[in-house]
Amino acid sequence: MFKIDPDILVQVICRFGQDLQIRKAQEECQELIETLRDHLRRPTAETIDHVAEEIADVLIMTHQLAMIFSPSGVHHQVDKKMRRLKGCLALGGEVQINGKMKDEGAGHEISGHHEHSRGDSPRLSPR
Ligand SMILES: [Mg+2]
Repeated sequence: MFKIDPDILVQVICRFGQDLQIRKAQEECQELIETLRDHLRRPTAETIDHVAEEIADVLIMTHQLAMIFSPSGVHHQVDKKMRRLKGCLALGGEVQINGKMKDEGAGHEISGHHEHSRGDSPRLSPR
């Protein structure tokens, strides 16, 4: 899905060290949290660009974290969680499309929010 070269990531981890990369991963996750918060508060084309940038940072950093901690363990957990999602869908779990998400607590929908919404990326909201 994304072109993330593991050879480059290994070189980065070796050059800067595991602890620094773990701290960098924390920073990038925090930046993504903040951009998602900004987007949900006031969605614009700019917030979408920021979210995309931070998703890229987090993807790169989480790949490094997997390499540092346990590639096989992460692989196993991803398989397990994807099977769970698939099972959720088979049981009638909700799938929302076009940026609409259901607020499960209040039981009402929150409308889609931007012109960049595409119908090709359903959002999963497993119960
Ligand atoms: Mg960042």
